[in-house]
Amino acid sequence: MKRKNKLIHPRDQITTIISRIYKRGMTTTSGGNISIIDDNGDIWVTPSAIDKGSLRASDIICVKKDGTIIGDHKPSSEFPFHKAIYEARPDIKSVIHAHPPALVSFSIVRQIPNTNIISQAKHICGPIGYAEYRLPGSEDLGEVIADEFKKGFKAIIMENHGTVLGGSDLTDAFERFEALEFCARTILYGSQIGTPRYLTDAQIDDFEAQATGVLPEMKDAEYPSDEVEKRLEICQIVQRSCQQGLMISSYGTVSMRWNDNDFLITPTGINRWDLDLDDIVQIKDGKREAGKKPSRAAWIHQEIYNRNPEVNSIIMTQSPYLMAFGVTGSYLNVRTIPESWIFLQDIKTLKYGAHFRKNNNSDLVDNCATALIIENDSVIITGDKLLQTFDYLEVAEFSAKSIVLGNSLGEMVPINDNQVEDLRKKFLS
Ligand SMILES: [Zn+2]
Repeated sequence: MKRKNKLIHPRDQITTIISRIYKRGMTTTSGGNISIIDDNGDIWVTPSAIDKGSLRASDIICVKKDGTIIGDHKPSSEFPFHKAIYEARPDIKSVIHAHPPALVSFSIVRQIPNTNIISQAKHICGPIGYAEYRLPGSEDLGEVIADEFKKGFKAIIMENHGTVLGGSDLTDAFERFEALEFCARTILYGSQIGTPRYLTDAQIDDFEAQATGVLPEMKDAEYPSDEVEKRLEICQIVQRSCQQGLMISSYGTVSMRWNDNDFLITPTGINRWDLDLDDIVQIKDGKREAGKKPSRAAWIHQEIYNRNPEVNSIIMTQSPYLMAFGVTGSYLNVRTIPESWIFLQDIKTLKYGAHFRKNNNSDLVDNCATALIIENDSVIITGDKLLQTFDYLEVAEFSAKSIVLGNSLGEMVPINDNQVEDLRKKFLS
């Protein structure tokens, strides 16, 4: 992925990411720690026992290569294993440790989540190691974790404790952390309504082999103000989707129709949390803006715009409760509450691979429904205004969540055909 943080001070990188992790409910006030090793071999690390919800750059500690500690607090009590990882693996430049609830669920039942649950996760996370229980903060814990990293893993489940991830930089480590917790959540939620199905390695290889940026490049792009406004709108919705837990760093595409069948779309290979206006790719007359790689799903967006004149914006993402349906094949019945049915009507599910260009994909792009689930991959939401499309996504995710949570109470009773007919007459005709 494209990195943007080379020239951001480690202190600032750490405070940004810890606050993101805290706000997304992936660490508690006291738990979790992050570090970065810089090119001098100095390690920047979160302090021990300081509120993760209000950490400032000045709270970050520097442990110099010679062991000198610089800062106002003590370094994290788990500093020994951060140090052990850097010693074991010179390619790792950043480490995240936390106790996010779904991965802790796996850790306490002593299982490793299978990342073949969604397309890109295996590629992002790599194989997952497993470190046996040891006393927190001990050199012993450092040793068992470093042993796992020595085997080549970059992601580890810590028995009865949590998880630890390494990366070539903090963005890379965060992407891995977020994708692994996402897999864990999807498997957990899916298991409440059915049996999760996993992709084969061959299916994932097929996904990864899809060509990106296959559209020809245009010579000179023009950027009138309405075009720039749409870029801003897309960036804001992507940011909001990430904040609301509806999109993760490594997956998700948003586009808006511009003129006729021309549109603006998010790029491939750039962390969704950090998207800027100039990352957005203009697609005009079937050509892409020079030097940029649009999302691999750009052709789906193009076909949807070509064939569905009423669609003016598209969001393609992975959100955990919708994906619980996407990985189990359970039918998502949106006849839950009137709002859900009015906005979404009935949601179809497509087989994995139907979203590959080489396959016959007319189901995907003809008579495009408001919401469509692609097995083990994503959900596609279409609408007129982008904010409205985002709202449909939220409504769909909430409906899915209500069904998953309600399942432990009893069987869902949908509104009946007559009630649906009344809704159709009043709201849709
Ligand atoms: Zn811990």
